[in-house]
Amino acid sequence: MPDREEVGAALAGIADPSGGGSVLETGRAGGLRLKDGVAGLVLSVDGLTQDVAERLRAEVEVALRRVPRVTGVRIILTADKAAAPAGVAVAQDSAVPGIRRLVAVASGKGGVGKSTVAANLAVALAKRGLAVGLLDADIYGPSVPTLLGIPGRAQLEDGKLLPMTAHGIKALSIGMMMATDKAVIWRGPMAASAMMQMIEQANWGVLDILVIDLPPGTGDIQLTMAQKLKPSGAVVVSTPQDLALIDARRAIAMFNEVKVPVLGMVENMSTFVCPHCGERSDIFGHGGAAALGEGLGVPFLGAVPLTMTLRLASDAGQPGSAPEFAGIAERVAIGLGL
Ligand code: ADP
Repeated sequence: MPDREEVGAALAGIADPSGGGSVLETGRAGGLRLKDGVAGLVLSVDGLTQDVAERLRAEVEVALRRVPRVTGVRIILTADKAAAPAGVAVAQDSAVPGIRRLVAVASGKGGVGKSTVAANLAVALAKRGLAVGLLDADIYGPSVPTLLGIPGRAQLEDGKLLPMTAHGIKALSIGMMMATDKAVIWRGPMAASAMMQMIEQANWGVLDILVIDLPPGTGDIQLTMAQKLKPSGAVVVSTPQDLALIDARRAIAMFNEVKVPVLGMVENMSTFVCPHCGERSDIFGHGGAAALGEGLGVPFLGAVPLTMTLRLASDAGQPGSAPEFAGIAERVAIGLGL
């Protein structure tokens, strides 16, 4: 177990950006908790701009990670709503007991890597010391069992579905609830109720975030799911290609309609990195998602290149190979106020 005193000493070396001494002296950092090697604390960002708050959070995280035997860091950002600086959201706890935030990962169309992003994002959030679940609600192509390398049916315990654990996260997939060789025709309300069952009648334990991989598209099924779910935020995945961006715009409009804040866009398959020579080529273009987001006032969460490594890791059920997801997870966590 890490030592409380060592953690305190690390924090005492960090100055409050508003002045008045260290973050401990001014009370900006508090609620220190040490459990199983994970150092957790609450950091108040009242009165700080988003940039300064983010730098401070990063500084605290680095300092805590340097403390011997600290294996994980969990920083909860809080902001007094009235004084919250622009851009730092103060997300509400989800309506599901035990789950603090629900975040939907969506795309306007299939094949853009939505599930790959959802799985890698969930694993990267867990690496930040958060308790994370991943729910695969993609009725058209549930791929979370493959992405995490956990095939098979979900088990029941005391009448509740039992999520499987892999790569530091818990996961349930609609694919664990149906026969793989049968065609299933879902209607909106039916798909939404299967999803709600996997949220409310499952034993998730206590989660900071439940990442939900929605089916691609913006039809009745996605709308019903978004309405029922009432997520704290949504992440929209797109490739930089114009055709995909037109659909991404629809996904953003859908969330606006049901008043779900869009935390931002991820540009996947942003640049192709040749596995042989390392040369980069922008097969689907580059920068389109950031530009679309800017036009619509939606933040840009990051770009993920198209690489052989990520494709092979995804098929092999080994998420966590792409370093870009650390930054994306950080921005999502901030957007969710975690
Ligand atoms: P969606 O959920 O949008 O239908 P998937 O996540 O299933 O898309 O991805 C489709 C295919 O593309 C998968 O084979 C996946 O491994 C691959 N893929 C997704 N993103 C990348 C990437 N950045 N680099 C390489 N392959 C990728």
